[in-house]
Amino acid sequence: MMNDNKNINGTDISQQIKNDVKLDVEKLISQGITPKLTVVIVGENPASLTYVASKERQAKEIGMNSNVIRLPEESSQKELLGIIEELNNDSTVHGILVQLPVPKQINEEVVINAISPDKDVDGLHPVNLGKLVLGEARLVSCTPAGVIEMLDREKIAIEGKNVVIIGRSNIVGKPLFHLFLKRNATVTVCHSKTKDLIGISKTADILVAAIGRTKMITKEYIKLGAVVIDVGINRVDGKLYGDVDYEDVLPFVSRITPVPRGVGPMTIAMLLKNTITAAKTQHNIK
Ligand code: NAD
Repeated sequence: MMNDNKNINGTDISQQIKNDVKLDVEKLISQGITPKLTVVIVGENPASLTYVASKERQAKEIGMNSNVIRLPEESSQKELLGIIEELNNDSTVHGILVQLPVPKQINEEVVINAISPDKDVDGLHPVNLGKLVLGEARLVSCTPAGVIEMLDREKIAIEGKNVVIIGRSNIVGKPLFHLFLKRNATVTVCHSKTKDLIGISKTADILVAAIGRTKMITKEYIKLGAVVIDVGINRVDGKLYGDVDYEDVLPFVSRITPVPRGVGPMTIAMLLKNTITAAKTQHNIK
């Protein structure tokens, strides 16, 4: 129990965000705008189906309009692009999300490029990524945005801190690098080819693991008193594990996100927040 207060509780924080977003939804509705999120899924990937159902349910819970367009596994890229085009042109739809991964006959990059940047609530369109690099992004990839939001809501300072991110994917590591840089952290990004990963990780005031390897980060990687953000979601025998060996590092960290109930719940909360941002942008509301 002693170490419980070290946990950064993503379930509670995501609920706070959703409460705030709900107020935004009510305000927009009073102005005649009902924010709407449309999720498109191709195929029957069980994890994706669960995520998509959760996104629709949580959007509805806070009063948004939300629907899921389900396409069969064998759908062509042309069919999917046709649907995206319709959604781009539908003024009642503010946020479009195509659940990834898509089946192999469909090129992910072409699909992402087809979504209107103003409706790209996943923040993956090159225009939004470019704005992120310039420090001007409005729609930012949900998981990285959620990491920063967690730190802010827990009043964990970022400015001037040494941040080490392990993982350089387009959906987590790279956007997070830019978000931390904008907040005046000194940021190092490590990856599978990094030499002396332990030595570099040990310099981190804030260590982010976004690797996809169960319990890889042990106490050897931790600077005493570091804040540890575990983005990893690894399913082993039906149970979820992070990239961090929680029990091993716990005595040495000041704060840590557990798995589950850490970064995970933040992603959908930020998706809903992005949908509000998208709705406001499309209606020229500040
Ligand atoms: P990815 O596979 O695209 O990228 C993994 C990164 O880790 C790569 O940049 C790779 O270079 C690096 N890496 C791999 N092995 C390494 C090693 N031994 N040493 C150092 N670096 C190494 O993964 P991703 O999509 O960024 O996801 C990472 C993890 O985060 C996964 O467990 C995923 O399930 C999870 N994730 C969680 C959420 C969420 O909501 N909460 C969202 C996205 C991803």
